[in-house]
Amino acid sequence: MTQTLHIIGGGMAGSEAAWQAACAGVDVVLHEMRPVRGTDAHQTDSLAELVCSNSFRSDDAENNAVGLLHREMRLLNSLIMAKGDTHRVPAGSALAVDRDAFSDDVTRTLEAHPRITIDRGEVAALPPADWKHVIIATGPLTSPALSAAILDETGEDALAFFDAIAPIVYTDSINFDIAWYQSRYDKGDGADYINLPLSKDQYFAFVEALQTGEKTRFKDWEENTPYFEGCMPIEVMAERGVETLRYGPMKPVGLTNPNSDDKPYAVVQLRQDNKLGTLYNMVGFQTKLKYGEQTRIFKTIPGLEDAKFARLGGLHRNTFINSPVLLDAQLRLKSMPRLRFAGQMTGVEGYVESAAMGLMAGRFAAAEILGRSVTPPPDTTAHGALLAHITGDADAKSFQPMNVNFGLFPPLETRTHKRDRKPAYAQRADADLRAWIKENFAEPLENAS
Ligand SMILES: Cc1cc2nc3c(=O)[nH]c(=O)nc-3n(C[C@H](O)[C@H](O)[C@H](O)COP(=O)(O)OP(=O)(O)OC[C@H]3O[C@@H](n4cnc5c(N)ncnc54)[C@H](O)[C@@H]3O)c2cc1C
Repeated sequence: MTQTLHIIGGGMAGSEAAWQAACAGVDVVLHEMRPVRGTDAHQTDSLAELVCSNSFRSDDAENNAVGLLHREMRLLNSLIMAKGDTHRVPAGSALAVDRDAFSDDVTRTLEAHPRITIDRGEVAALPPADWKHVIIATGPLTSPALSAAILDETGEDALAFFDAIAPIVYTDSINFDIAWYQSRYDKGDGADYINLPLSKDQYFAFVEALQTGEKTRFKDWEENTPYFEGCMPIEVMAERGVETLRYGPMKPVGLTNPNSDDKPYAVVQLRQDNKLGTLYNMVGFQTKLKYGEQTRIFKTIPGLEDAKFARLGGLHRNTFINSPVLLDAQLRLKSMPRLRFAGQMTGVEGYVESAAMGLMAGRFAAAEILGRSVTPPPDTTAHGALLAHITGDADAKSFQPMNVNFGLFPPLETRTHKRDRKPAYAQRADADLRAWIKENFAEPLENAS
């Protein structure tokens, strides 16, 4: 019984984790609170319900990081990908699925697995001490009682509730004829931030665009979620007065523009978002502008004309832990290693990324129970890059949920033309993942399809 793996949450991550561990030969109890207790977004009793869109995003493994993650998951016998492929609906180069058929099939497959028991009920406190191996995969809408228990164990600062996220830009898409590196008043090492200057006319036009830009509407259940201190959407600040931003996140003080003698009227600052320095987030630019509006308006900022966004801003209630501080490289809670975390709770964003972290947690937990050693996948793979980001590479102070993207991958060893870089990342990832599977998982695995 102590060798049983308890998985809390039968969403994208928990379902994948259960499948992976059971296929490796481990007995699993999957605890899912629906239908005994619902969430504000789920509508059915099915496992792996897709709460919003029905898209797993791009399926292009050569040119898109989430497509690469799909390919890696298929290689790793992913249940979520197998059922996604079975219930695919036309969506161009994206993988979109028939949501009900997909979730029903995942549910039936897990119910039919001889090593999996599904227990419908809420786990409302930290798991009892005799649950020696646990994966917590309760997602962005973790029930309040369990949230409180986790907060108690990890410390108030470590469990983050957020309601707004700021866009992240690829550093190599910023125009450095205009932008420059400098910290305000040369603090830190003097060059911690990227700065983008706006003239008075540019600033006024920008504020007006924010005020009139189309915003995402709140869902009914989100209406009462308060904004957090220091997390006010930028367009809400702009609505308070035309000069508000100039005294807030866009203040032009403590900075000297080396590219021009003109003093900027306002400045946008970007803060490094990953260890590699390939990604920078727009400081104070959390927003609920619609995605199209964000790219249109933010590209009017001098230096961002050709910006490529690794993630756009967004606003919804969410629960995630500060993984870079709290988790080890195998997703175990450092202060209580019998507990692993998986899914959106770990600070990844999206259905596919959540399932991928479930896949990892399931395999790590199974190996531990079976007394086998397993190493995390290399950070040159999509799984490894995402795992490395959430368990150490991300800046813990500004940690926010992250989609997989090529900015998380270590640079290529050889100089490669821009056009060929993504396929080169993908080829390197494929070779490295295959080698990792060979080294770590000798036994043949069951097939999910
Ligand atoms: C409103 C909303 C819209 C979203 N839209 C999208 C989108 O369009 N595309 C996208 O890629 N991502 C979207 N996401 C993010 C999405 O939630 C994640 O991508 C993904 O579903 C997270 O997977 P998960 O397994 O971590 O959590 P979930 O899939 O949410 O699964 C968590 C499961 O845990 C259960 N649970 C919670 N607490 C307990 C408890 N105490 N005991 C037992 N069971 C419990 C829940 O019922 C749920 O089934 C959205 C998120 C929200 C909140």
